Amino acid sequence: MHEMAIAQQIIEIVKETLACRPGSQFKSITVYLRIGELTALVAESLQFAFEALIADTPLAQSRLEIEWVPARARCKSCEKEFGIRDFEFACPACGAAETEVIQGNEMNISRVEIH
Ligand SMILES: [Zn+2]
Repeated sequence: MHEMAIAQQIIEIVKETLACRPGSQFKSITVYLRIGELTALVAESLQFAFEALIADTPLAQSRLEIEWVPARARCKSCEKEFGIRDFEFACPACGAAETEVIQGNEMNISRVEIH
């Protein structure tokens, strides 16, 4: 399960963040993620994996906030930028199939809030 591996990475990053602040007290942690629409990640699966991994750990009160990044591409012929819908990558302006994805494949932690 892809989401399980990602949840594990997120937790590692949270732990590193906490390691930079030794002795700091926290009640809960919110991790803000930016996930591209083309990643095919399922938010519910990611939440479920994350919650399973943090259960009964000091991070048990943590949660994920997911912001979806819309998929966009740029045409290599006419340079038009357009939103990708239903995995249709051809250029809507000139019909060219040679387009380049410029947004929508990302999976970033934008910030970690410690409360
Ligand atoms: Zn075009």
